[in-house]
Amino acid sequence: MSGQPNFFEEVNTTFDEAARFTEYPKGLLDQIRCCNSVYRFDFPLRRHDGTIEVIHAWRAEHSHHKMPVKGGIRYSPEVYEEEVMALAALMTYKCAIVDVPFGGAKGGIKIEPRNYSVEELERITRRYTHELVKKGFIGPGIDVPAPDYGTGEREMAWIADTYAALNPGQLDAMGCVTGKPVTQGGVNGRREATGRGLFFALREACAQSAEMTALGLSTGLGGKRMVVQGLGNVGYHAAKFCREGGATLIAIAEREGAIMNLAGLNEDEVFQHRKMTGSILGFPGATDLPSTAAALELDCDVLLPAALEGVFTAENAPRIKARIILEGANGPTTPEADPIFRQKGIMVIPDIYCNAGGVTVSYFEWLKNLSHVRFGRLSKRHEQANELQMLRAIETATGKPFSEEERARIAKGPDEADLVNSGLEETMISAFQNVLETKRKHVGVPDLRIAAFLNAIHKVARSYMELGIFP
Ligand code: NAD
Repeated sequence: MSGQPNFFEEVNTTFDEAARFTEYPKGLLDQIRCCNSVYRFDFPLRRHDGTIEVIHAWRAEHSHHKMPVKGGIRYSPEVYEEEVMALAALMTYKCAIVDVPFGGAKGGIKIEPRNYSVEELERITRRYTHELVKKGFIGPGIDVPAPDYGTGEREMAWIADTYAALNPGQLDAMGCVTGKPVTQGGVNGRREATGRGLFFALREACAQSAEMTALGLSTGLGGKRMVVQGLGNVGYHAAKFCREGGATLIAIAEREGAIMNLAGLNEDEVFQHRKMTGSILGFPGATDLPSTAAALELDCDVLLPAALEGVFTAENAPRIKARIILEGANGPTTPEADPIFRQKGIMVIPDIYCNAGGVTVSYFEWLKNLSHVRFGRLSKRHEQANELQMLRAIETATGKPFSEEERARIAKGPDEADLVNSGLEETMISAFQNVLETKRKHVGVPDLRIAAFLNAIHKVARSYMELGIFP
């Protein structure tokens, strides 16, 4: 697209930088980095005033080395083809890094959702799904969308319902999309998953004493000053879990501007204020900042971009004072900004690792849909009985009884949310360790992003080499 940076090329620039640390043949690397299929389509929408508008939409499937492919759907007036391809590519690498057995995909509809009524959004979403069904770009074993920027549970429910209507009797139909409401085949913990995963990633990074010493920071999340850009699904939940984990939210930025309070903000109070007044500005006790951009340049320990890509460029990167950048958004750092951050000694925790919590829990939701049973339903009471037996044995051995409150807290057996959160925590911790180990092991790997890409390339390459190439 003329005049716009080509996000797909930017992702491939980073890919090539990481690929230099491998010895795979060029043809194999070319196959891994290319986008396998792109479906671009237009369809008509009848608006509430009777006029007809053409809607532009895409679905890109980046890699079919594992099936189904998976990735969110974005509603934004800024959507363009190479952006969807780039986001699909990031999904391939992300899934590989956290060992989620899917290829990468992404979808986009070029609309500003705020300009459409709920009925119009429903018609757009259902027609989009119908187009995907017609071309074989959706299905529990083919391609499984999820929420992204501008979409959420409501849209995912419409997609599931449309798919089921067009595929009557298909037993696994609910597995055609994730991020659904819990009451409609969704899984407990999916809504918060990306934010919670970001918290686990940051907590792991802050626990590394060598890395924290190099940054001039103490270990642990306690007291870390944090700035958040974007108070949507990802930004809100990441801010919540990090604050609860001990960080202080000193500034929050949204489209209309930013607010700052060095004593600390509460993301939910700010969210409610924005809901009531229509703006983040004027929040009691906080100072208004002239622009969103100004918040990014504040002196802080952790900076969390959680809005859109292309936030850090060669122009503003030299002015960034954060010690750690936690990439909640996909692609917030351009390839021109990365070397500047390296030179400034900033630790960038890369998107393809740290925002993978969403797809990880989407994978759990998909497993739940295929098994048709809630996690923990079969084992909760059994585990609770075992835990109670253990408590009784301890009481007998020590002669000291547990209080009713202790008994209820310890011997409860896991709920679905406990199991999902535990699976997410395990995934984020082990993937962080793998990425850090790759960086430490390979002389010359300059940062965690290249290390993460390197891990992803090895895993996708192994699929091609072990499965062979058809025919
Ligand atoms: P969302 O639509 O829920 O929230 C985005 C927020 O960013 C909105 O509140 C919006 O007003 C705000 N925003 C827009 N422009 C801004 C600007 N210039 N400055 C400050 N704020 C601005 O979207 P989301 O699902 O939270 O996604 C945000 C980012 O995280 C995207 O890059 C997305 O690809 C990525 N991501 C999302 C998920 C997920 O599970 N939803 C998973 C991984 C990555």
